Amino acid sequence: MIPAVLPTYNRAPLSFVSGQGAWLTEADGRRFLDFAAGIAVNALGHAHPDLVRVLSEQAAQLWHVSNLYHIPAQEALAAQLVDLTFADTVFFTNSGTESCELAVKMARKYWFEQGQSDRVEIITFSGSFHGRSAAGIAAAGSEKMTHGFAPLLPGFTHLDWGDLDGLKALLTSEQAGKIAAVLLEPVQGEGGIRPIADADLQAIRALCDAAGALLILDEVQCGMGRTGRLFAYEWAGVLPDIMMVAKGIGGGFPLGAVLATENAASGMTAGTHGSTYGGNPLGCAVGLEVLRHVSDPAFLDEISRKAGFLRQQLEALVAAHPDVFAEVRGSGLMIGLVCRTPNMDVVQAGYGQELLTVPAADNVVRLLPPLTVSEDEISQAVDRLDRAASQIAAVAV
Ligand SMILES: *Cc1c(COP(=O)(O)O)cnc(C)c1O
Repeated sequence: MIPAVLPTYNRAPLSFVSGQGAWLTEADGRRFLDFAAGIAVNALGHAHPDLVRVLSEQAAQLWHVSNLYHIPAQEALAAQLVDLTFADTVFFTNSGTESCELAVKMARKYWFEQGQSDRVEIITFSGSFHGRSAAGIAAAGSEKMTHGFAPLLPGFTHLDWGDLDGLKALLTSEQAGKIAAVLLEPVQGEGGIRPIADADLQAIRALCDAAGALLILDEVQCGMGRTGRLFAYEWAGVLPDIMMVAKGIGGGFPLGAVLATENAASGMTAGTHGSTYGGNPLGCAVGLEVLRHVSDPAFLDEISRKAGFLRQQLEALVAAHPDVFAEVRGSGLMIGLVCRTPNMDVVQAGYGQELLTVPAADNVVRLLPPLTVSEDEISQAVDRLDRAASQIAAVAV
């Protein structure tokens, strides 16, 4: 018999009743160190007092009004994001996949309004993840996500991750005039924590400029302080035309956004897009408080400092367990442990040590702690990984 909840997830036999900072507690009191953070969502950890306060205050005042009316918190959050980024304008969504939908629509509408209605093609890369909507799965294009869901949304060309030669060939070919945009994650999350080199992102920007194509960055996972900058594109000094955001921006409240330049957004006039819940008062009140914390330069510096500490300890861990781990990679507090043993073995052994991590493609275990994690908690997580790896090695012999 089918379970009452549609069985689309492989769930771990864990269930939490409360959270505090980087810790989650089960009903029996068992406490887990949370280096998953809802997959890079709980940026300020669980039950952050400032977020609890603003959410409670807003809940007592006004939950929801339609976008038929002005929503002051939405306007304030948009203005701050514009101040802090490349963007001139912001549309609020409730999730990453909705941000992907709008990013795709915006790029195509841009060229339509430029009189190039056949300029619809969007180039994406293998290993990408852009959400589970029709546009999201077509954009990522992997067999795993698209199998059985045909007909897929047309207009996506897939290249291998990092295939700059292939990109250059496309953007300098006769087909270049059909290419609306290039879409990528500056650090692939689901794909196995694969950062793009700064020089490669710069080269992609230059190729887009030469061909006139728009550059869309998906910072749903790597944005909002995760890499130690408010947005990952800042490391390379490369400005996108359109950017997808979600996950960390709501700190656990469903909130997403599409940021864009005035030029890229020029096709999106009144009536061309909308959302019932996007930018609602509750989400924007929380979003403003998350951004107040995460955009603080001292907070961002602290992320980089803690990331360095984590990285150093993980290098030692990999060296101590060469049969279990191959490599550490990533950026800031978005870290991938490339495994030699099956990554799920490491994740599950971690559960046994009361540590939560997340598997990713390419046999990677992801470490995505709350950005508020302490050095002591980082040490505890590495100790737990060390015990988990010893246990795997003991079973293997
Ligand atoms: C999680 C994720 C999405 C999809 O976000 P949802 O909120 O699950 O719809 C899109 N892109 C990236 C890079 C993600 O990590």
